[in-house]
Amino acid sequence: MIPVNSVLQVGHFPEIMQAEIDRRLSPARHLDIHAAPPVGNFQAVLIRSNLKLPEDLLRQIPSIRMVATCGVGYDNLPLDYLKEHGIKASNTPGVLNDAVCELAVGMMLALLRKLPEAQEYVKSAAWSKAPFKLTTTLAGKRIGIVGMGRIGQDLAKRLEPFKVEIAYSGPHKKTLPYTYYQNIQDLAKACDVLFLACPATAETNQLVNSEVLEALGPAGYLINIARGSVVDENALLDALQHKKIAGAALDVFENEPNPNAAFLNLDNVLLTPHIGSATSETRIAMTNLAVDNLEAFFKQQPLPSEVNN
Ligand code: NAP
Repeated sequence: MIPVNSVLQVGHFPEIMQAEIDRRLSPARHLDIHAAPPVGNFQAVLIRSNLKLPEDLLRQIPSIRMVATCGVGYDNLPLDYLKEHGIKASNTPGVLNDAVCELAVGMMLALLRKLPEAQEYVKSAAWSKAPFKLTTTLAGKRIGIVGMGRIGQDLAKRLEPFKVEIAYSGPHKKTLPYTYYQNIQDLAKACDVLFLACPATAETNQLVNSEVLEALGPAGYLINIARGSVVDENALLDALQHKKIAGAALDVFENEPNPNAAFLNLDNVLLTPHIGSATSETRIAMTNLAVDNLEAFFKQQPLPSEVNN
């Protein structure tokens, strides 16, 4: 049981998540992050992973000892401040893998087979004048996954039945039946479709640069389901505009929800508005895992999914 007025909900949650929160606890609400926070002896914060938690807010409420973020990425938390002040943090890994991987597979198929363009072809009656252009077959392609973690491994399992070869890169080689490359550039050179499934960190910032895109080559596709910061967007725009790669499917952007407008005019991209985990089932599961973490904190039990900061 979470004591009343001990949790501060920061920012708005979609209706379905808010209903789940309200079913399980009664948080105080601090909806406008730019306004002064409410006064109270709050011990924990509940926030969505797409909202930046200002260090200043925590400074103003020194009673806070825990932050539960609803999402697996915790790049919007002030990690140094949390560590320095011994404030615990939790995220919601695992429960969103299905939704994110389903989107990733859908983006890949839609990108390679040009599904949005094909639908427009039928709707605009262009089909009556000429057949649609030929596209490319996925079977036989070489897939690279940058970041073979929970999502990366689930994605790889889903891709196996498509008759593709799978390889990956990341800090650690794992006991997996896939080829390992320590270096992303070598992976890009050895694959046709490069998925990004790593976290946003200082090390992954603009990891995909012009050299990596050049290594991917004019027949290669990039699919980013990780974070916008992992890609040098100017380099990507240049590669797309000059057909240095075949195409890109992007669910995440440097500047959300107002991505660089240059992406909007390209015909070799598939763009989605950061919807990796955006299914009702997944959002309910994420909310419940975030609240489970809060409950464990108040019971002084180990957190089910603590962020090891
Ligand atoms: P995870 O289990 O922690 O896996 C992350 C993987 O990235 C780990 O395998 C790690 O490698 C690898 N990695 C770390 N640093 C790297 C680097 N410098 N280069 C390459 N790989 C690196 O996390 P997850 O649950 O799979 O989630 C991954 C990310 O997906 C999240 O952080 C989030 O940003 C993103 N995501 C996006 C959406 C969306 O809506 N589009 C939804 C959910 C998650 P090691 O195992 O070798 O350490």
